[in-house]
Amino acid sequence: MKRFKHLEATSVDEAAAALQQYDSAHVIGGGSDLMGCLKDNLWMESPEAIINLKTIPGLDGIRQDEDGLHLGALVTLTRIAESDVVRNTWPGLAEAARKTGSPLLRNIGTIAGNICQQNRCWYYRYPDKLGGRIDCVRKGGKRCLAVPGDHRYHSIFGAVKKCIAVNPSDTAPALVALDALVETNKRTIPIDEFFSAERGAVSTVLEHEEIVTGISVPHPGAAGRSAFRKIALRQSIDFALVNCAAALTLDNGKIATVRICLNGVHNNPYRCIEAEEYLAGQPLTRESATQAGELALAKAKPLLFNTYKVPMAKAVVADTLMDCLKQA
Ligand SMILES: Cc1cc2nc3c(=O)[nH]c(=O)nc-3n(C[C@H](O)[C@H](O)[C@H](O)COP(=O)(O)OP(=O)(O)OC[C@H]3O[C@@H](n4cnc5c(N)ncnc54)[C@H](O)[C@@H]3O)c2cc1C
Ligand code: SF4
Repeated sequence: MKRFKHLEATSVDEAAAALQQYDSAHVIGGGSDLMGCLKDNLWMESPEAIINLKTIPGLDGIRQDEDGLHLGALVTLTRIAESDVVRNTWPGLAEAARKTGSPLLRNIGTIAGNICQQNRCWYYRYPDKLGGRIDCVRKGGKRCLAVPGDHRYHSIFGAVKKCIAVNPSDTAPALVALDALVETNKRTIPIDEFFSAERGAVSTVLEHEEIVTGISVPHPGAAGRSAFRKIALRQSIDFALVNCAAALTLDNGKIATVRICLNGVHNNPYRCIEAEEYLAGQPLTRESATQAGELALAKAKPLLFNTYKVPMAKAVVADTLMDCLKQA
């Protein structure tokens, strides 16, 4: 790992000013993703400075009011998973946090770090020290190694800028399903506009001096339900092969509103619009949930080694919807 300055910010303004001062600086929350990126020498430019956000007071609150849930950027995944407030009213989000990584990772990993983490691809993340740098498209090179190589964990919805590395976040689909807002030091960003693999080697629309300060999730109302499911090879600690979150309201037994989001299947979290349109006004039954799963994957374009993800994702969509039905 190359040497860098470690700055302990005491306010968001101070952290933003430090980002402005250094062209190649990164903020750090829990560091569970960032430290791996540094060790594996992921970036073309090694950062001159790392700016610690954990030294900023007031960014670690969980608060509920009449508008909904307000999470500070530094709230850890453990606290979200264990919060009665979140579990009672936003169970899909609590479950997503509970299924992230391992207990140790959840203890240090923050909600902001979880949605800002880099996309996953084993060529991109190949440890520099093991055999040298693999300069794929995402690292500024000319070709993608995963498309002609081993892409079993990659996108089934095509490439973005020739890259098929997936967004791996567990909480991102829950926040998309729950229609969250991401608050930064500059603006409020609807979650549907937050993820942007289209920008190249970053996963979000955040600008260089932009810092996530919190996340707001609207109140789902008395009829609101939400659920999250994840399929991973190892249950104890692993990234999702496929995960899914759904949030819906029922009115007289029929679906009034619904949002469904898959992750681990594309460069950005993948909102299942066709499935949502089909479900609106339908009763929620195993048949309608199964049909929603079919529609959610209608545009899938799997590659040779990841076709298995298509039936897996269809089933996860259907099962996540049925989990919503089980809620009282
Ligand atoms: C072995 C292992 C297993 C993992 N398993 C999972 C898993 O199952 N599911 C999953 O979703 N993730 C997983 N992760 C990834 C990671 O640990 C989590 O996503 C964690 O929540 C990241 O949070 P953090 O606070 O540690 O982020 P950090 O590492 O501190 O930051 C991650 C990125 O976000 C940026 N960032 C952090 N905070 C802010 C902010 N407030 N504003 C702007 N940018 C910010 C950083 O600059 C960095 O680029 C795993 C990681 C490891 C090493
Ligand atoms: S999928 Fe993306 S990150 Fe992986 S090798 Fe291809 S260009 Fe690089």
